[in-house]
Amino acid sequence: TKVDNPYAGAKGYVNPDWSSKAAAEPGGSKVANQPTGVWVDRIAAINGANGAMGVRAHLDKALEQKGSGELAIQFVIYNLPGRDCSALASNGELGPTEIDKYKTQYIDPIAAIFKDPKYAGLRIVTTIEVDSLPNLITNVSGRDTSVPMCDTMKSNGNYVKGVAYALKTFGAIPNVYNYVDAGHHGWLGWDTNLGPTVDLFKTTATTDGAQLSNVHGFIVNTANYSALKEPYFKVTDSVNGTSVRQSKWVDWNQSVDELTYAQMLRDKAISAGFPSNIGVLIDTSRNGWGGTARPTAAGPTTSVDAYVNGGRVDRRIHLGNWCNQSGAGLGERPKASPEPGIDAYVWMKPPGESDGASQVIDNDEGKGFDRMCDPTYTGNARNGNSMSGALPNAPLSGKWFSAQFQELMKNAYPPL
Ligand code: BGC
Repeated sequence: TKVDNPYAGAKGYVNPDWSSKAAAEPGGSKVANQPTGVWVDRIAAINGANGAMGVRAHLDKALEQKGSGELAIQFVIYNLPGRDCSALASNGELGPTEIDKYKTQYIDPIAAIFKDPKYAGLRIVTTIEVDSLPNLITNVSGRDTSVPMCDTMKSNGNYVKGVAYALKTFGAIPNVYNYVDAGHHGWLGWDTNLGPTVDLFKTTATTDGAQLSNVHGFIVNTANYSALKEPYFKVTDSVNGTSVRQSKWVDWNQSVDELTYAQMLRDKAISAGFPSNIGVLIDTSRNGWGGTARPTAAGPTTSVDAYVNGGRVDRRIHLGNWCNQSGAGLGERPKASPEPGIDAYVWMKPPGESDGASQVIDNDEGKGFDRMCDPTYTGNARNGNSMSGALPNAPLSGKWFSAQFQELMKNAYPPL
């Protein structure tokens, strides 16, 4: 039987592969012992690709780290057919129709390892398919943000079938805890997005034999930069009678940070029929926004825009910017049960691993060049046609990016 919150009373698994890269950076030993997500981002990663540890090796190491207490180990399940449909930086190895390969060569072998009785005493957290279902809501026909590949993945149903299969297969294992990816507030925080998203979660979690109880919770802000809390303005504030929701930055959103978004999402999911004990994870690996540019007080009340822009700690050019953001810092350290409804703050995206290359780099992983990772790019409808805000000289997504790691340490909040 599953515990209510797998993070409560448990230590977090420290990935030795990530830890040694962090420790090798100047000052990196301050964070190198933090738990981070293990991304199983291709079939070859199950057994360990390019010198990295495979799933079994991580679980064996987790048993060592566990000792006689409890331990939670976090895996990111990330290999859907037609992966990353709205962008190019994390396109994957499986083509849009390769759902059978996803099931039999990716999910099934991972599940077979998880089921090994040797690992029954570990709490295995799986976060399921970052950005996939959210893309089917906002990046499809009918929106000015639509992308043909997302239409394809919506019409062929393979994101839904893949996520349903992962939920059903892993959910049946007593010590595995599934958390479904739910974007972030700057993506789905509008009622008009969140309502349909929760409906899609429900449809997906009841497709092909999956059950709502296979969902232990949701994860928000995975690999994103949205602030955990905006301390200097709330969605209910107004300036000279004008709501902050009318500011350019908030743009009518119903939530202005990840904590309020996560709690709103949880309430809506429970109202829609998900179990009342679901919890939400918030990825705080890179949403600290500290350093010298961090505001220390609310902005001036001359206009809603001045008020919001002066006081917001998220210093991005636009909330839709997602690649290697300049000025970002490490956020809250991983922690269990930090707020009501929140199972944990987690570092699911390992700090220092790139979001995407800033120019074309040949590779055999299916990854493309997305101009959102190019600091000279002037944007598209998904980021309000703004500059990308990306750091220069970035390697392929997932590769170690030393300059970014240094930037994240420098701008950590809470400070290191
Ligand atoms: C990449 C993955 C990588 C992950 C964690 C993603 O953007 O596509 O290959 O494992 O980030 O860094």
